[in-house]
Amino acid sequence: MSCDAENFLYVFDHTVKPVLLYASEIVGMFKPSLDDNLFEKVYKYLPLEKLNLSLCRYILSVNKKTSKLALYGELGRYPIYIDIVSSMLKYWTRLENDKTGDKLLSHALAENLLMIENNQNCWLSSIKNILKKFNMFNSNESELTQLHVSMKNGDIQRIIKSTKSKFESRWFQQLQTSEKLRTYRTFKNIFKFENYLVNICNENDKYNMSRYRTSNHRLQIELGRYTIPKTPVNDRTCKNCSSCEVEDEKHILLDCQKYFTIRQTYIDICYNKNSSKLNTDNKFIWLMSNEHANVCRNISRFLSLSIFYKTDSKATEKLSS
Ligand SMILES: [Zn+2]
Repeated sequence: MSCDAENFLYVFDHTVKPVLLYASEIVGMFKPSLDDNLFEKVYKYLPLEKLNLSLCRYILSVNKKTSKLALYGELGRYPIYIDIVSSMLKYWTRLENDKTGDKLLSHALAENLLMIENNQNCWLSSIKNILKKFNMFNSNESELTQLHVSMKNGDIQRIIKSTKSKFESRWFQQLQTSEKLRTYRTFKNIFKFENYLVNICNENDKYNMSRYRTSNHRLQIELGRYTIPKTPVNDRTCKNCSSCEVEDEKHILLDCQKYFTIRQTYIDICYNKNSSKLNTDNKFIWLMSNEHANVCRNISRFLSLSIFYKTDSKATEKLSS
């Protein structure tokens, strides 16, 4: 596979996503609740979201065990429910402003208002719920009356912005407690598309960088999670050197003697006057959060020649056979 991550996402969002979201303005309705995680709970198991996550896995070339938090985080990708909420609000505004006099639609809307009056769940009660959740109702006026007043485009944008911001806050909170992403959270603290996906030209190196960052590797720190019983973190030591250190991402990039020569060639030359004085923990963070193209390329090359070397060899053998 060969693709430019940004362009791939753009093409997907402008060709496939509109098809996936067909009729979502109607079928996206849900039972009223003011739960803070309402949208995530309602739309979590939606096939559309599974496809959204499969797309992220495909672009990053990582496996099914990859944490969803890392998938969203690496690409700065939001769940599809945000598009569903947006299409529902836009459709409601269109119905309220309908000048064509479509009798069927205006009757359906009137029927929905009647159902709300009788405390029955309906499509419009989902809209009412969204407006309530974002404090869009004026407390001096009845909610029913206000449901007749269509929203301005700016209001919809405000709700979408707020939905995205709430998602980012939850993403950040969940990241802090994720066992699998204990290393990831040390260098990833901003929800955004990662520039290494553009800066690294060699496809294989780029995928290895994604795999390394999202713990898609076979280092002891990861393998120990799947032993029975689970190996305590401190016992997941490196079998490639005599350091007795835990074989994790940091050990590989900065310490493991096995990769001393490759490290000299690709990593040690990355440091500048200031970063060379940092301690190991901060050097790791400096390297992994560095967006300079040459630094990203050097790290990814180091990874391709070290922990992913066997995988590369197998792939080469497979291709040449
Ligand atoms: Zn080692």
